[in-house]
Parts: sequence; structure tokens; C-alpha cells
Amino acid sequence: MVHIKKGELAQQEKELLEVIGKGTVQEAGTLLANKDVRVNCLDENGMTPLMHAAYKGKLDMCKLLLRHGADVNCHQHEHGYTALMFAALSGNKDITWVMLEAGAETDVVNSVGRTAAQMAAFVGQHDCVTIINNFFPRERLDYYTKPQGLDKEPKLPPKLTGPLHKIITTTNLHPVKIVMLVNENPLLADEAALNKCYKVLDLICEKCMKQRDMNEVLAMKMHYISCIFQKCINFLKDGENKLDMLIRSLLKGRATDGFPTYQEKIIRESIRKFPYCEATLLQQLVRSIAPVEIGSEPTAFSVLHQAITGQVGFVDVEFCTTCGEKGASKRCSVCKMVIYCDQTCQKTHWFSHKKLCKSLKVIYEKQHSEAARGPSEEEEDGQRDFNSNCVNEEPPRAETRASQDSATPGDCAEGEKAPRRREAGAECAQDGPAGPLAPEE
Ligand SMILES: [Zn+2]
Ligand SMILES: [Zn+2]
Repeated sequence: MVHIKKGELAQQEKELLEVIGKGTVQEAGTLLANKDVRVNCLDENGMTPLMHAAYKGKLDMCKLLLRHGADVNCHQHEHGYTALMFAALSGNKDITWVMLEAGAETDVVNSVGRTAAQMAAFVGQHDCVTIINNFFPRERLDYYTKPQGLDKEPKLPPKLTGPLHKIITTTNLHPVKIVMLVNENPLLADEAALNKCYKVLDLICEKCMKQRDMNEVLAMKMHYISCIFQKCINFLKDGENKLDMLIRSLLKGRATDGFPTYQEKIIRESIRKFPYCEATLLQQLVRSIAPVEIGSEPTAFSVLHQAITGQVGFVDVEFCTTCGEKGASKRCSVCKMVIYCDQTCQKTHWFSHKKLCKSLKVIYEKQHSEAARGPSEEEEDGQRDFNSNCVNEEPPRAETRASQDSATPGDCAEGEKAPRRREAGAECAQDGPAGPLAPEE
């Protein structure tokens, strides 16, 4: 490769840098078509056009430059920043993704020894941290779709690559979500297929630990998903799909407070079974989880989630009570204390939640009236509103007798922005909210 000196820019290269900041993709394209314009030229700080585009958050410019052969791993910047670091610092998720897909190395460090993910975490760009930590190029799975050595068959049938890759790259590691992803794909919800998949995951885990640039985060993630797959296999024996039962077990709350003990135990057990005891990450996880009594905070899931996604705390974002998906917005209209992605997630959780919904409602109302601590008139008004709606509007009848478990909380879910009070009223059965009336198991 031709050695490129810093700061020796041709006039048109200077123009290119300006166009990247202020101009259009067409203008940049015209300049790049010029023989005298080097796509990897360096300004006086050692920044390439791609670094400029990444830092300024110009997605289309980044794509154009990459098409023209921009070196995604150029490392000439005066402080050792790469294009991926600039992308992550700018907080642009799409650009971060594009850099990774273009082959950006994630373990390169800047002049003070920080990786792109660490730099992004430092400035609070947690979405970018998550993207970097969970990136796994699909091509790495392709290796397993070809028979290796003496194998007659590949370890992974090619048709499983897509579905498996989808799960590997998920940033929501909630066990229920993983089982849901398996269950929704007939190719995966199959004993033989999952047997192959979990073995491939174990191999990737091993590779992550043994390669020169060890990746404990990815290794732990692969191992954890492998453990969940092995649980799934137990519920797929003899050609029968009983994954719904697994989901129920994972969601079932204990009598006292609804805490999902089985789920907690499964996650703890998976972590403990990580085969590389010397791993720093494993030791960190065990240190955080071991002293915690089952049912107290932090849960094993939150500790694992934080370790793997690099996200600290759950500020300002709501997570689905059932599947842990980010940005859930439908609240149980009775207690308003739990939140879901949609009605499917709410229905799935109802068999467990129905035992606590009423007492949560009391807690909610207590908190609410304490928080209000303002004019008591308003509160009385609110109460009256709620009740009058209950009485006046004819509710859809919930099936309480026919099937206990499908006793649908269905229409309880509502958009957060919907006029809550009115909706709640509309769904109240004459003698109280429909959901909680469902007979106990
Ligand atoms: Zn959900
Ligand atoms: Zn509720």
C-alpha cells in the first residue's frame, strides 16, 4: 500500500472533506471519481474522509466512501482513533453497524488503551456499545455449514444459518424471548436442529476463549444461548412441541411476590456452567450474583444483561415484563404496575400475574395518591370518573369459566398515551375488572 502522509492534501481532497461536512453525496461522488482524489487521504490530524463522515454522522457518505474502497481499519489518527470509534462516539447506530459490517475490528485500542465500545460507554452512547458487543458477522456461521475434516455432514445445515444468526445477534437475552424466537421458527423448534445449533454455539464459545484476542463477552453469550437451547430440547422431545410449557415455567411467579424463581435459577445455573472458570467475566458475574438471595435485586438476568450488552442501568426505558423487550409501552390497565410489548405478551404472563394484579393495584393507588399530595379535590374527581365509566359502559365479557388459563386479560393492554381512565372503565366488568375475576388455578 502507498504510504500516505498526514496533511498533504490535494486541493480536491480538501474539497472532499468539506463536502462530507456540508455537501451532498452526489458532490462527494463526483470528487471521488477524480483520479487525484485518494479515498484514504489523511488530514493533518491523521483523519480519513471516512472518519470525518462517521464523526459527523453522515451515513450515506460513509457508505459511498466504503464503496470507493475506504479503509475501515485505518489507524493513522493522532490519538489512534478508528472510524468505528468515531461512529460510536457520534452515537449513530446505523453508522456503527455499517462500520462493523465493513469489517471494522472491535478490539483495536486508541492511544490511551480504550476500545471503541469502551469509548462509547464513556460518553454514554450505550446503544452503540450494545451494537459493537453483540456484532457477529453471518459469515462466521458459514464456516460451520461446510463439512470440516473427516465430517461427512456440516455441523450446521445451511438453512439454519439465518434463524440461528438472528438469535445470536439479539441484544435481548431474556430467556423467554429466546424461547419465543425458537418457537416462532419451525426450522428451529425441532429437537435435531437445536441439537446441532447448541453444539455450534459451544464451538463458537470455545473459539472466542481460545483465539488470541479473547472475547469473553461473546463467549458467555454463546454459552448462555446454548444453555437455553438445551432447555428447549427437553420440551421438544418425541416430536412434541411443549415450548409453551417452558415459557410458562419461566414466567411462573412464586406465591409470595410473583418472583419467577425458575427463571432466576436457570440463568444462575447457565452462568455457573460456563466452562472456562478462569474467565474474568465469569468471576465478575459470580461475585455479583452469589451473595444475592433469590428474589432480591439484582436479578441474575439484569447482571448478565449488563455484562453482555454493556448497558448500565435501565434509565428511561421500559422493558416488557414477559420477554424483556426494550421500549414496551402497554400497561396492565388494572394495576398499571406491569408493562408489556403487546397483548400476546400480556396474555402469556396473565396466568402468573392474575394472582398479584389486585394487590399491585392497591400499591399503585397508594403510590399514586402519595405522589399526588396536591389538592385532594382532583383526586376525588378522578376516582369518580373511573367509577362512573365502569358502571355506564358495557364491557366485553371476559371468558372466566370456560378455560381458566386463557381467561383473557386481552383488552387490558392499552397504549400508554391512550386516555387510560376511560379505557380502564370501558373494560371493567360490571362487578369489577374482568381479568382478576378469573378463577384461581
Ligand atoms: Zn414482550
Ligand atoms: Zn395487572
